[in-house]
Amino acid sequence: MIPSQKIYSDDKAVYTQKTVRARIEALFLNNLGKVVTREQIQAAATDPVTKRTPENWHQRLSELRTDSGYTILSWRDWNKLAPSEYLMPNADKREIAGRRVLPTTACWEAVLERAQHKCEWTEDGQHCGLSEGVIDPIGGGTVKLTADHVNPHSINPNTDRTDPAQWQALCGRHQVMKKNYWDSSSGKLNILGILQNVNKSQKVEALDFLLRYFGMTAKKTGDGVEEPQ
Ligand SMILES: [Zn+2]
Repeated sequence: MIPSQKIYSDDKAVYTQKTVRARIEALFLNNLGKVVTREQIQAAATDPVTKRTPENWHQRLSELRTDSGYTILSWRDWNKLAPSEYLMPNADKREIAGRRVLPTTACWEAVLERAQHKCEWTEDGQHCGLSEGVIDPIGGGTVKLTADHVNPHSINPNTDRTDPAQWQALCGRHQVMKKNYWDSSSGKLNILGILQNVNKSQKVEALDFLLRYFGMTAKKTGDGVEEPQ
């Protein structure tokens, strides 16, 4: 997914799509595999008629990832990118869950009762079990349980709205884990997805672990761009 070399786009086109998001999308699709800078994104996002640059372009960029399912790398994903640089390696879109369906109130109450108002996440036989309202000792913050559709690939989730067996109660941390990093078809964690989204010290910790595990040492290639603090 990460390109072998860093090539900058020289795109100076004026984008005329109707929305900010569509203009930014067009910029990335025209520059697959190339680095586009914050300035280029702002230029593409600029309204072709009013010439106004939207302040919320960054939000629209996030939506291309979260709502449209595109992969857009930033310095968090590839250490050769500076904080103002972004790269879409290809036009592939991840499968995005359709419109959010929620259980009926009665169904959700039945789920909470079954769960004894605790997070139902289980991984490698370990049950999360955090209760609604306590402080999450790992993620911090107050635990709030929300409904998770057990099988996101269900043919017609609308028919499941009244069936407690189709839902589970999850804490916020495990909602994120399932949504972003859990492949429900294979039942496995997306380890790379996790590593891409943790901070630098956690990446270093993971690297140290792998080097120890394989009895190897790391050699810096020298052209890596240091990540900002
Ligand atoms: Zn949990």
